[in-house]
Amino acid sequence: MRAVVKQNPGFDQMEYTDIPEPEVSRDLVKIKIAYSGICGTDQHAFKGTYASTVTPIVLGHEFSGIVTEVGPEVKHVKVGDRVTSETTFETCMVCPSCLSRDYNLCSKRKGIGTQVNGSMAEYVVSREESIHILPDHVSMLSAALTEPLACGVHASIEKAKVQPGELVCVFGAGAIGQMVAQVSKSQGATVIVAGLSSDVARLQLAKAAGADYTVNQGEEDIDAIIRDLTDGYGVDVAFECSGAVPALNKALQLVRRKGRVIQMGVFAEEKNTIFTDLILHREIEYIGSRSQKPSSWRTSIELLDKGTVVPEKIVTNIVSLEEWRKGFEEMMRGEGIKTVICCNSDIAEE
Ligand SMILES: [Zn+2]
Ligand SMILES: [Zn+2]
Repeated sequence: MRAVVKQNPGFDQMEYTDIPEPEVSRDLVKIKIAYSGICGTDQHAFKGTYASTVTPIVLGHEFSGIVTEVGPEVKHVKVGDRVTSETTFETCMVCPSCLSRDYNLCSKRKGIGTQVNGSMAEYVVSREESIHILPDHVSMLSAALTEPLACGVHASIEKAKVQPGELVCVFGAGAIGQMVAQVSKSQGATVIVAGLSSDVARLQLAKAAGADYTVNQGEEDIDAIIRDLTDGYGVDVAFECSGAVPALNKALQLVRRKGRVIQMGVFAEEKNTIFTDLILHREIEYIGSRSQKPSSWRTSIELLDKGTVVPEKIVTNIVSLEEWRKGFEEMMRGEGIKTVICCNSDIAEE
């Protein structure tokens, strides 16, 4: 089968090549891939800056598709099911994180597209426990983005516990920021998405996808806007989804006393000081949210089923498997929000 393979560590070292189709055994499920999203992690792997990636490996961990074969121990998933899958392929099942199903925190976890072959190919295998069957009306395109959606669910619902009527500010208008905004909106919050001058198109898209307010901090005074919206008290919850310390500091300044600040972004450098004194004096709850876990996926499928989130709204480009390089290059240039690879066009519209 055709696949996008990271052959060796280091910059690029990527090849579009033929490899044997994966085989099923025990509890494994073979999936013919409809779409595979290009994520920040895949771009880091391309650049050789993601230490966890083993090589050689097929990249890709956000996908949807149709089951074509199941292993002898598979109980519920059937050939022909339309599915998506969690990225967890293997966990230790003995550490405290595994026992509480917090697989995102297991230090022995093996992930699809990082430690085992991923979804930028015609087929992938995943374990049955990680598979989620799609409601009929959910598109393959939206389903392929269940992983970033689940990251948004974990942050907004499971960690921040966003409540109806709360005012939420999301810093960062990339894929994760957009998912956090959609999920927070689905919980009945009023949502502000804040970005920079380079985010104008992303902010427009956030607005079209349901955000109540967008702020271009290059031109607008976010302090004044939030002061006016909250009588000077600040927002209930702020999410840092941009990976920049100044955005985190802005979040700490603009959240109300006893408010919650959730960090999702990974900081490239720590040259800037974090305003930790604000956490103390304003009794801010400063909360980390890493990736997603099984409960986040179950809730994501419910939201997809209800239609209160529509992840495909953030897809700004679709490329074919053989055009994978063009897709990576567009995303690495910072164009659009989410580029998705179509891996088998015959099942993409189902
Ligand atoms: Zn991802
Ligand atoms: Zn574990």
